[in-house]
Formats: sequence, C-alpha cells, structure tokens
Amino acid sequence: LIELRQVGKRFRSADGHWRPVLEGVDLALHDGEIVALLGASGSGKSTLLRLLAGLIPADTGQVLLHGQPLNGPARAVGMVFQSFALFPWLSVRQNVELGLEARGVAPAERERRARLAIEMIGLPGFEGALPGELSGGMRQRVGIARALVTEPEVLLMDEAFSALDVLTGERLRDEILQLWAGGTMPTRAMLVVSHSIEEAVLMADRVLVLASDPGRVRDQRLVSLPRPRDPDSLEVRDLVD
Ligand code: ATP
Ligand code: MG
Repeated sequence: LIELRQVGKRFRSADGHWRPVLEGVDLALHDGEIVALLGASGSGKSTLLRLLAGLIPADTGQVLLHGQPLNGPARAVGMVFQSFALFPWLSVRQNVELGLEARGVAPAERERRARLAIEMIGLPGFEGALPGELSGGMRQRVGIARALVTEPEVLLMDEAFSALDVLTGERLRDEILQLWAGGTMPTRAMLVVSHSIEEAVLMADRVLVLASDPGRVRDQRLVSLPRPRDPDSLEVRDLVD
C-alpha cells in the first residue's frame, strides 16, 4: 500500500552540522494491517511518519504509495498528531474541514463530509465549539476527525494518545480499534507510533522498532518482532538492538 525504500533524511543541527536521522530505512505497510512503531526518543519516528505523510521530502530513497512516488501530502494518507495541532481560533467543524479545503472540495461537500467525520468520532453537537472549550480527549477526537475526513487509505498516528490521561487515551484507542474492526473507517492500514510496548502489542499485527545508535553516524534499521500471544511474554531486552 505504502512503503519507504532505502529512505534517508538528515537535518542541520544548531551547530550547523548535518546530522543523519534516518538512513536506508525500508518499511512497507500492507493492506489490512496495523503496524506499531517503537523507538527511543529522537530516533526519528515522527520524521518517518512525516515522510510517509508527504509533509517533508526524503533526501535519499523513495516513498511509494501504490507503487507511485509520493510528491507532497496526499488525500490517501491521514495523520494524527500527539499535540492535536488544531487551530484554536477555528471551530471544530472548520478544523475538520481544513484537510478538504486545501484540496479544493466545494463548501457544501466539505460541510457534509466534516459532519460525517465528526459524528463517526463521537463529537456530534460540538461542530461550532472552539478547541479551547473542549477537553484533551475531545480535542484529539477533532484531530482524528480531521485526519479521517479525506477518507485516507493510510492512517498515521504519532503518539496520538500519550498527551491524554490514561483512561481517556485507552477509551479513544479502543474506539479507534472498533471503528477499524467494524469497517466504519475507510482506512486500510494504520501505522501507530507509540512509546508504550503494551499499547503497541495491543493494537498492532506487527511491531517494528526503529533502532538507533546515538552519538555516531547512525545506521537505522527497522526490527520486526512477531506479535506475541501474551503481552507479558515480550521483554524489553527483545526490543534492544
Ligand atoms: P520522540 O519520541 O521524542 O517524539 P522521535 O523518534 O519522534 O522522538 P524525531 O522527532 O523524528 O524523533 O526527531 C529525530 C531527530 O531529528 C531529533 O534529534 C530531532 O531533533 C531532529 N529533527 C527533527 N525534525 C527536525 C527539523 N525540522 N530540524 C532539525 N532537526 C530536526
Ligand atoms: Mg516524535
């Protein structure tokens, strides 16, 4: 469905040096699967998601959607951010409509689709509210609705539940899994970045670890773990490269 082939990305750090963050990363997300991505802070997980979302270009290698190079953000790829990334001065509906506005969808159609997404994610009646009037859990529902409004085939979630209290996060996560299992979402594959091994094992069919070797030019590899039957059987040392 979507893949990274030998993708590299580097950034210029504060001291002016180029620092490689991802090198030679291969990753394929297939139809029908949920994949979790774990990795130390700073290992490049968010960078990897932004590459898949077409928000930033790869320096080397390719990002392919249905085998075609991805040039910029695509309707078929939606992303949910840890910090929600909502515009505080726009209403819930306007925030959700943004993804469609940028793609030239007519106002009446935007409104209809936004209503559907807001309903799907459990926020009917809040269309006119401002993000500041909502709880964290409800704000992230808006973030999810905005990602789903373009009916993406691929949904990328960057620590989408970690800014929420545990119960709220778990409830929202379970609801997403129910929407997924019930076929309510148009989405055909999900990549879920998490810092929680438990969450990764709970959600995903496959768990990948972005390995890093800080302090040196890093050789980034994705390590695939089989999904254990019993989450307790997964030990941290299994995740250390
Ligand atoms: P975390 O778990 O803390 O969210 P992460 O695995 O998502 O970390 P990234 O946010 O992808 O890590 O960042 C990887 C590295 O790249 C970090 O050292 C970060 O400082 C650097 N980096 C990311 N984006 C930029 C940017 N736009 N400019 C410069 N450096 C960047
Ligand atoms: Mg991150």
